[in-house]
This record gives sequence, C-alpha cells and structure tokens, in this order.
Amino acid sequence: MRRICVFCGSAVGVRPAYADAARGLGRELARRGLGLVYGGGSVGLMGVLADTVLGEGGEVIGVIPGPLAARELAHAGLTKLHVVASMHERKATMVRLSDGFVALPGGLGTLEETLEVLTWAQLGIHGKPVGVLDVEGYWTGLERMLVHAVGEGFVRAEHAALLLFGTSAPELLDRFAAWRAPAVPRAWLDPSQT
Ligand code: AMP
Repeated sequence: MRRICVFCGSAVGVRPAYADAARGLGRELARRGLGLVYGGGSVGLMGVLADTVLGEGGEVIGVIPGPLAARELAHAGLTKLHVVASMHERKATMVRLSDGFVALPGGLGTLEETLEVLTWAQLGIHGKPVGVLDVEGYWTGLERMLVHAVGEGFVRAEHAALLLFGTSAPELLDRFAAWRAPAVPRAWLDPSQT
C-alpha cells in the first residue's frame, strides 16, 4: 500500500476527541510512509489531518473540484493539489490514487463518499479496503443501520462486512495491510439474489 484516502468532516465537531483522532491518524500514516489522499480542504478535520501529515514530513495529495478551489477552500501547502471538474471526477481520481479508504467522523459529504466507495467495492469496481475509525462511537449508528439493512433483506451480509470498523488507526491500518478482497457475489449479475 502506498496511499490511503481519508474522508472526514469539513467541521471539527463538538468533541476534542475528533481532532485528536485526525491527528493520530495523520501521525500513523506518516510513520508508516503512507501518503494521504483527501478532499483538499483546509477546514475542519480535513485541515487538521493534512497539517499533521505535512508536519510529519508525509505526502499529502488533495483532490478538489474547481468551484471549491475557487472559493479559496483549498489547502495552500499540499504536496500536490489536483483541481478537477466535478464531484464525480474527484471521486474517481481519489479511488485511482489510493489503496484503501478510511472515514473519520464527518457529515453528509463524508457519509456519501464512504458509502459510494463501499458500493463500488460491492460492485467489484475496486478491491480495496474500506474502513471507518469509530471515534467515541460516532459510527455506531451506521453499524446498526447496516445490520438492519441486512436483516431486512436489502444488503447481503458479505457486502455489509466489506466495511471494517476500527477504534484505533494502527489497528485499522494493520487490517488494511492484511486485507485480501473477498470474492463477493456481484450485486448486478443477478439482482434477484441480492
Ligand atoms: P462533510 O462531511 O459534509 O463535512 O464533507 C466533508 C467531505 O466532503 C470531505 O471528505 C471532502 O471530500 C468534501 N468536502 C466538503 N467540504 C469541503 C471543502 N470545504 N473543501 C474540500 N472538500 C470538502
């Protein structure tokens, strides 16, 4: 693995533990020589994370749509900033550049990005690990939602299991390093089986 993509809030949230976790993840990425790919912003947990990796001498690649960059929301000190045309191009670029995906606490953008890369794993579009860092139980509701969706017959158990839940950055990154993409049944081949 060379680079990890991190999705996280453009806010810092109300608990100091969220920014602490962003700093902890940033230090761990740098310690392992893993580059960071992220949304390119300077605000919220995104800024905390990018500043930490840069401060540790690590590589940080931002991928930001032109309109967001134009509103001066882009981080000015990154190793590299890709300015792309759309949110769709951003997602595809992030997936291409990265070997795994981690979600820290965040809002709708973080949820959307995480669920999209999970959906792409379900479809076999990529075979890279996807995990959330469950700081102070922030992602417990998502875990419960997935169990509910499996129970109600809308998500296969093996697809829900594609999302790894970790409580510390070293633990989650160790699991990423050992990750082998399972041969998941592809949802689109036989929709009646999903
Ligand atoms: P949210 O979780 O709604 O705060 O959105 C954060 C996610 O959306 C990040 O992972 C980014 O990829 C993207 N995003 C939202 N706001 C910004 C911003 N100001 N600059 C760059 N990316 C952003």
